[in-house]
Amino acid sequence: MKPKSKKILRALFISIVFLGLNIEGFISQSNVKLSSNDSLFETSAARTLFFNETTAYNYIETQLNFGPRVPGTLSHGECADWIREELVDITDNIMTHNFTIQKYSEPSYQCQNILGKINPTKENIVIFGAHWDSRNVAEKDTENQRSPIPGANDGGSGVAVLMELARVLYAYKDELDCQVWFLFIDAEDQGYSRGLYGLEGWYWVEGSLAFVNEIDNYYNSSAEIFECFILLDMVGGSNLQFIKESRSDEALHDSIFDEGVKLGYYEVFPSRPKVMAITDDHVAFDNFGISVIDLIIDFVEGDWTYHHTHSDDLSNIDIESLLITGLTLESFMKTYYTLNQNKDWRNTDLPTSVYLSITVSSLFIVGLMVYLILKRKLKSKSTN
Ligand SMILES: [Zn+2]
Repeated sequence: MKPKSKKILRALFISIVFLGLNIEGFISQSNVKLSSNDSLFETSAARTLFFNETTAYNYIETQLNFGPRVPGTLSHGECADWIREELVDITDNIMTHNFTIQKYSEPSYQCQNILGKINPTKENIVIFGAHWDSRNVAEKDTENQRSPIPGANDGGSGVAVLMELARVLYAYKDELDCQVWFLFIDAEDQGYSRGLYGLEGWYWVEGSLAFVNEIDNYYNSSAEIFECFILLDMVGGSNLQFIKESRSDEALHDSIFDEGVKLGYYEVFPSRPKVMAITDDHVAFDNFGISVIDLIIDFVEGDWTYHHTHSDDLSNIDIESLLITGLTLESFMKTYYTLNQNKDWRNTDLPTSVYLSITVSSLFIVGLMVYLILKRKLKSKSTN
């Protein structure tokens, strides 16, 4: 082979490999959690989304100002009234599901699930849910285990994102081709752990069990169809990384995670998430036959270490986590539930991360093949 052709070949090979590495580099760089100032965030996809993290953060602050939202307390009642008041301007109708919990010889507690609906005349229903009560004990703290936690992340964050999502989606509800329910669930977090009940004798997720038992009172089962139930629990902590809850519907999980990846949040929505089985408010909906997902973190061994402690307060909320969760869910609604599109998350394609890996690998293989073919041709030419 002539030295000049060799040089050209080598340059071609190096540029192809370099291009491949660049794409790899782009992907691994994107693993860094993005702030709203980062360039990748300024993609056209993100610019069409309206979820505001400051509004969401303020919704957490308001809840914490009421004090612990433990059933039977004044702050619990005040928070319920506030949720209803907020929903007046951002949903089409509001319903309250009152129920009573009474265990053994303990007093009875008045609880309430609050439901805000957008587009109530549409046929298909997407439900977003989050619990709004906060835990009455801090069994995982080293101090004051028998006093209630602030519940900024565990309770507060889910409510905040739901509320902001309602505000945003209500603004363009005419573009949506479904009903959206925002379900604020009571009495989730008073079960038994490490020797302590939140409230004596209570099971976890009492509120969602009670709601699903009477769900027929809230929709017309012969005319309306449930699409999915999306649960948010602890979505506002630092170092956000979602797990795959084992009851979560595979296709729903993939399509929501893919929305996150599309926006660049690779680390929050990992391609191989930890799988865990968690007793949460999605269980009752799953048993009822609705496709569910529980967007939740690994609160046992994960990086956010304030679960059921007094440090679950505003100082351990990361406003960026609220933004990431909110934008991803808004993007999910835009992709699958706006008018004049026929995308169905049940038939999703491969996740974006898989496409990117395939593209990078293919580029590398094609480059290598081109290199080998050209090398062979030039070799045979120079020997001729
Ligand atoms: Zn909890």
